[in-house]
Amino acid sequence: MSPRRIGRRFATLVAGAATALSLGLANPAPAAADVVVNATVCYNTSQAGPYAGIADQAASIWNAYTNNLNMSKCGSNLMIYYTTGGGSYAVRRSLGNGYVVIDTAQAQQYAPLRIMTHEIGHILGLPDNYNGQCHLLMSGGSAGTGCTNPYPYSTEAAQVDRNFGGFGAEGAQVFRDSWPALATIG
Ligand SMILES: [Zn+2]
Repeated sequence: MSPRRIGRRFATLVAGAATALSLGLANPAPAAADVVVNATVCYNTSQAGPYAGIADQAASIWNAYTNNLNMSKCGSNLMIYYTTGGGSYAVRRSLGNGYVVIDTAQAQQYAPLRIMTHEIGHILGLPDNYNGQCHLLMSGGSAGTGCTNPYPYSTEAAQVDRNFGGFGAEGAQVFRDSWPALATIG
């Protein structure tokens, strides 16, 4: 190969790298080629009772909406529990580690899958964002009982990808969730 051809190849590579860089800047999610991370969160539904299947659906949703995250039933980094009364909540010990508790009373008012995906979102490093917007997952109960959207918005999924791409600094936190109870009649 002539030096001239090598030079042209090098120029092509540099141009390619510049394109990748500019794409990386335009897109908040790290490009898969730049950050090869596939962090596995092992979740466990053995204590989830009637919500085990819903936890599986929520895990599938998070897997489908992210690149750097792989939720799998391979252990108990993330335990799923349920209770009645007191509210649903998430306890994050560290990114990808902790447990989620689903309140059966809330799950009769709000869409259980939305509650589950939201609470798991906390374990994946997302904070609450109670602004009433149903297209956001982390708006939680502020979007009302009529909001059944169980999918993370693109910005929320991108944040999880950043967290699991090594850019997150999410530590331990407890999220006592606000999924307000409906006013009782009479
Ligand atoms: Zn929350």
